[in-house]
Amino acid sequence: MSRHESYPLFNLKQANVPDDLCPVATEVSPMLPGDWRSMRPVVDRDKCVKCAVCWLYCPVQCVEEKPAWFDFNLKTCKGCGICANECPQRAITMIPEAT
Ligand code: SF4
Ligand code: SF4
Repeated sequence: MSRHESYPLFNLKQANVPDDLCPVATEVSPMLPGDWRSMRPVVDRDKCVKCAVCWLYCPVQCVEEKPAWFDFNLKTCKGCGICANECPQRAITMIPEAT
């Protein structure tokens, strides 16, 4: 059973979704936040003190521990900027994806 099938919403039979409902509403998109994000966090490794505040606040749990700093899984990071706002060391900068 896939991750999505464990939720009733995505079990079409269990959710009693009509067969003729618009497919957009019944198919799970494989798109990840990294495909549409407009900003991404960049950590200054010299400023990071590994306090884990960014890990605690990230709403999608994409903060990963590295040997001497914390970094981000950019496949699932949605670019919300909460980590940058909460970092007590001001070690995280949000930059536009295009750069
Ligand atoms: S909140 Fe800032 S200082 Fe703390 S681990 Fe994250 S990047 Fe490093
Ligand atoms: S920008 Fe948002 S989603 Fe990405 S690591 Fe920071 S808190 Fe998490």
